Amino acid sequence: MSQKLEDFDVISVVGTGSFGTCYKIRHKISKQFYVWKAIDYGKLSEEKKKLLVSEVNLLSQLQHPNIVEYFDRIVRKETCTLYIIMEWCQGGDLSALIRACRIENKKFDEPFIWKALVQISKALQVCHTRLPQMTLLHRDIKPANIFIDSKGNFKLGDFGLAQNEDECSLSDNIVGTPYYMSPEIIRGKKYDRKSDIWALGCLIYELCSLVPPFRGVTLQELVSNIKGGRYPPIPEFYSEHLHTVVTFMLTVKREFRPTIEMIIHHPLVVARVTSDP
Ligand code: ADP
Ligand code: MG
Repeated sequence: MSQKLEDFDVISVVGTGSFGTCYKIRHKISKQFYVWKAIDYGKLSEEKKKLLVSEVNLLSQLQHPNIVEYFDRIVRKETCTLYIIMEWCQGGDLSALIRACRIENKKFDEPFIWKALVQISKALQVCHTRLPQMTLLHRDIKPANIFIDSKGNFKLGDFGLAQNEDECSLSDNIVGTPYYMSPEIIRGKKYDRKSDIWALGCLIYELCSLVPPFRGVTLQELVSNIKGGRYPPIPEFYSEHLHTVVTFMLTVKREFRPTIEMIIHHPLVVARVTSDP
């Protein structure tokens, strides 16, 4: 697909974030909806521009049912804007669903949470173990970066902070959401695959409890709770099995924390996949 801006009508804003604004658009001929992320690259440093180019190249390589699908890019030199065209996820993002549950005093049902766990794990498995010659770390797994399509499938998106493990340096360790920051990052260690697993554990926990596992009135208190692995249990409404898997992902010592393969092949997770096709 090689498109021009004029081939689309802009319908509405779907969200704004760090890099730019996302719009829902419609292809004039096919009438299909998409999303484009409009990024003003004029203000970016050379280093950031390089990162952006690598993000876009990366996206085009990542093809998986649980990863937001990338279609094309358009560069408008006159305005220094890069448009990244991707699949429109009709169900929005998980942060909006969590907020709605909190306001309406509702809970997600347990099959929904297992489905999220299985599908996001599969997306992470691609990043961590299935790419030729690289390990991709997402580095910003959080509710606002998990999207839901029209069929109710979960999709990992927003690879704006994602990085090849080899290129990851200590200096840019503090990225992403502080609530999901892992104990090793707090201790100044390098971000690695296990730090993504920690964030996944925080995310699944938040789907159960509707608040992040680690909180604090001050940053210091938050940091101390993360280091000590102190968090309230998930609501009793959920099964012991779900509790076990979440607890496993939130293991403070990263050498004892599971890899993505261990999660996917965990008997309790496998049992879920075979019982809910
Ligand atoms: P940022 O790097 O700016 O955080 P995101 O890709 O996370 O960018 O997009 C910001 C917000 O825009 C998301 O949280 C979501 O609400 C909305 N959004 C982004 N992409 C899509 C999409 N493909 N489908 C539906 N909504 C989207
Ligand atoms: Mg985002």
